[in-house]
Amino acid sequence: MALASEQEQPRPLPWHQPLWERLWQLEQSGRLPHALLLSGPRGVGKQVLAEALAARILCAGHAATACGECHACRMLQSGYHPDLMRIAPEEGKRQIRIDTVREINRFVAQTAQQSGYRVIVISPAEAMNVAASNALLKSLEEPGSRTLFVLLADVPSRLLPTIRSRCQQWSLSPVALDDCRAWLAGRLGSDEEACFWWQVAGGLPLLALELATPEQRALRQQLHDCFEQLVRGAEPVSEAARLDRQAVDDILWYGVAWLEDLIGFGLSGDSRRLRNPDQLPLYRQAVKNARVQDWFRLLDYAREQRRLLAVGSNPNPQLVLEAWLVRWSALLRF
Ligand SMILES: [Zn+2]
Repeated sequence: MALASEQEQPRPLPWHQPLWERLWQLEQSGRLPHALLLSGPRGVGKQVLAEALAARILCAGHAATACGECHACRMLQSGYHPDLMRIAPEEGKRQIRIDTVREINRFVAQTAQQSGYRVIVISPAEAMNVAASNALLKSLEEPGSRTLFVLLADVPSRLLPTIRSRCQQWSLSPVALDDCRAWLAGRLGSDEEACFWWQVAGGLPLLALELATPEQRALRQQLHDCFEQLVRGAEPVSEAARLDRQAVDDILWYGVAWLEDLIGFGLSGDSRRLRNPDQLPLYRQAVKNARVQDWFRLLDYAREQRRLLAVGSNPNPQLVLEAWLVRWSALLRF
């Protein structure tokens, strides 16, 4: 029983430990800023860190992580704490709107129910549109005492500079294998799996877990087969029809990762640094058939399509997949 509640308690991930110690020291010496911006690529564990921090700040105990036993911790475990506000885009929406930020402003204007801190976690902070961001500025400037804003951002440059300048920024980088190897191996069942998926995910441990799920493994295998068919001269439009258009962003993500591998390999001839070493036969074929600048052009195209998908101005996903495979096919069969 005690063990179960301990597991539910939000804790920092092993690779966040050095950063966590610095945050804890700031808190202990009363120098924790009132607004933190945690930035870093998706899959590095920003949300887990924010949850662990919110739990620690609200906890009545004095240990370096939330105790899991006090009234505040129990409220959090039950799923609700009156002094914690989590902000995200509404279901099915991409943006955080001004009405939501007005609720934050009202929340900040009240006193804390449990006479401690109030914590507001905004994720992803880039989802605030301009009106929402401007509405948040006043609360960020004069938050009142014992208030902590935690903003999470994959791409902090998409935030208004006025928001960024009012937060203390902590950036989280991809994680070295040794810092997450045991953690990943414990979840993926073997050291070999841990190393493989860490590499595929570019050092982002939570992304590695996601990519290793059965659905994502199947998608990766399907893409691999699709490219083999293209090399053999298959018709790209009919290959595109087999792919799941709902997965267009994941498909482009893999395309970007493979192109980065391919370009690195094409420039250096070195296959030891590949993120996807199992795709080496495809890379060899590709390098033989087209020039590096052609692959760069394709990389730009994929990144631009992903950006358009992210901001919601996406064209028809089926057409994106077709155009994408037609471009690949032209280069693979040069
Ligand atoms: Zn506690």
